[in-house]
Amino acid sequence: MAQAVENAVRYFQRHRALYGDQLILGAPELGVKPAPADQVEGDQLGTLAAFNQDIRNCQKCPLGATRTEFVFGVGNPEADLVFIGEAPGAQEDLAGEPFVGRAGKLLDQILAAIDLSRREVYILNVLKCRPPGNRDPQPPEVEQCEPYLQEQLRIIQPKLIVTLGRVAAKTLLRVDESLQKMRKQVYHYQGVEVRATYHPAALLRNPGWKAPAWEDFQAIRDRYRELTGRPPLVKNGVQVSTGKGM
Ligand code: SF4
Repeated sequence: MAQAVENAVRYFQRHRALYGDQLILGAPELGVKPAPADQVEGDQLGTLAAFNQDIRNCQKCPLGATRTEFVFGVGNPEADLVFIGEAPGAQEDLAGEPFVGRAGKLLDQILAAIDLSRREVYILNVLKCRPPGNRDPQPPEVEQCEPYLQEQLRIIQPKLIVTLGRVAAKTLLRVDESLQKMRKQVYHYQGVEVRATYHPAALLRNPGWKAPAWEDFQAIRDRYRELTGRPPLVKNGVQVSTGKGM
């Protein structure tokens, strides 16, 4: 019973973080029962919630001892588009949510510019706990934590992954190239297509990168719509292919 109440509280906290105080009727029902691997479809919320419960007290690497909050991920458990950063920063560590603060707001604006919202995508990091001082993830930490990310992706089953920032791309793809080069390549991870682009925090530090980032996000928008069978975006009777952007 206590577990059910705790799960309900977590669900509504997450719901509030995503949707504010408005109660979204018809939102997927809370469920914490682990689903068999072959029954994932249609029960991703319950399966993800159960997986979160299973791993949120993890102490497999030293970051477990220094974190404030475990940062699982947030968004639509059935998302076709997943964004992956490297690790929680200071604000995420306090909030227990990925991409909060100014960088998170900018990500929300970017999503809105490509006709998406946090409600439609899923956002997570390679590491679930904050590296002290925001240093880059260390290989042993990635080795310990990456199976969690892989399981999340197995449950969500996205059609397109976007890495945010060079470190996330390099860590996930094991490619030691500049972000400039990685942005122009198409990669695959666990059989899913991957595109690399800038981290929103980097765009805040270097506004000059917003123009190339906007090119990336337009390409991401178009590829996402193509992969999911959505028709090209049309506004005012005109197919949207370029725009003012962020
Ligand atoms: S970073 Fe990952 S492996 Fe390390 S303690 Fe946190 S959840 Fe566990």
